[in-house]
Amino acid sequence: MFTRRSAVVALGIGIAGAAIIADARAAPSYDDPDDLYQALRDQPAERIVLPGGEIALVFADGAPGLDRDRVRAWVREGADAVTRYFGRFPVKHYGLLVIAGDGDAVGHATTFGYAGSATRIYVGRSADRVAFARDWVLTHEMLHAALPDLPRRALWLQEGNATYVEPIARAQAGYLSASEVWRQSLAGMQKGEPEPNDGGMDGTRSWARLYWGGATFWLQAEIDIARASAGRHSLQDAMRAINRQSGGNSADWTPEQLMAAGDAATGTEALSRLYTRFASERATTDLGALFARLGVVERGGWVMFDDTAPLAELRRKLTRPRAG
Ligand SMILES: [Zn+2]
Repeated sequence: MFTRRSAVVALGIGIAGAAIIADARAAPSYDDPDDLYQALRDQPAERIVLPGGEIALVFADGAPGLDRDRVRAWVREGADAVTRYFGRFPVKHYGLLVIAGDGDAVGHATTFGYAGSATRIYVGRSADRVAFARDWVLTHEMLHAALPDLPRRALWLQEGNATYVEPIARAQAGYLSASEVWRQSLAGMQKGEPEPNDGGMDGTRSWARLYWGGATFWLQAEIDIARASAGRHSLQDAMRAINRQSGGNSADWTPEQLMAAGDAATGTEALSRLYTRFASERATTDLGALFARLGVVERGGWVMFDDTAPLAELRRKLTRPRAG
C-alpha cells in the first residue's frame, strides 16, 4: 500500500517537469484486478454521464504522455456504439482505468465484474487519431460488461458475443463500414471451426474457437431468431432483455438462464436449441453456404454483396447505420 502511494507521488514529480522518471517499474502494473478496483476508488475520476448509466474514467497515475482529449473522444465513441445497440448504456456504473503504455496502438484490456463493472485497458502513448478510430478493443470490453458473467466453461459464449456484436454495434453507430464488418467475419469465422478431434464448445481453450467459433454461434443465432420469429425479432432484442434482467456482468448467470431469457424476449427457442448443440457436440458450420445466403461474397480479397441472396435483407439491416 505504502509503496504504491510512493510510486504515484514519484510519477507526479515526473509530470511536473523534473527528470522524466515515469517508467513502468515505478507505477503499479495493475495486473491484479484488486489494484484496478483500488485505483478506481482512490484516484481522480472523470464522470461521463450517458443515458442509462455513467462511466468513471480514471487515468492510471495520471497516465503521463497520453492525449487525454483523444482518449475522452474514443471512450465516448465506444460508449455511443454500445448505448445505441442496447438502447441505453448497459451498466449503471462502469469504471474504466486507462493505463499509459509504450507503442502506437490501443493495447490489451480485461473486464471484471466481481466488485462492480470495470475494465482495465492499456493505451500506447504514441497512438494517433487513426489508431483510436481503428480500435475495436474498448467496444468489445464494454460489451462484456453488458452481459452477466458466466461459468468458465462458457467463456466461448462471452468472447464470441463480444466478437460478433462489436463490429455490428460500431456499424450501426456509423463508425465502421458494412464491408469491413463482413470482411472481418469472413476472415475470422473460418478460423473458429472445430478441428477433427474437437468436441463441443463448452470448456474449449483454443483462442480461435473462443473468439471466432463463438462469434459463429451468435451469427447463427441471429439467423435462427429471424427465421423462428418470421423476421419480427433479432438477436438485439434478446441481448437487450438479457442485459436489462441481469444488469450486466456483476451478475452471475448460467448459460441456460441466459438462453432462456433471450428466447423469452423473442418468443422462440432459437438460442436454447442452438446452445445445446454447440455446447455439447462438435458443431460444424458450412460457412460458405451461410455467407452465400447472406449475400456476402469474396472476390480477390474484396467483399462484394449480392442483394438477391435469400438473407440479404437481414444482412443489410444488421449493419445499416441508425439514427441516434
Ligand atoms: Zn473479450
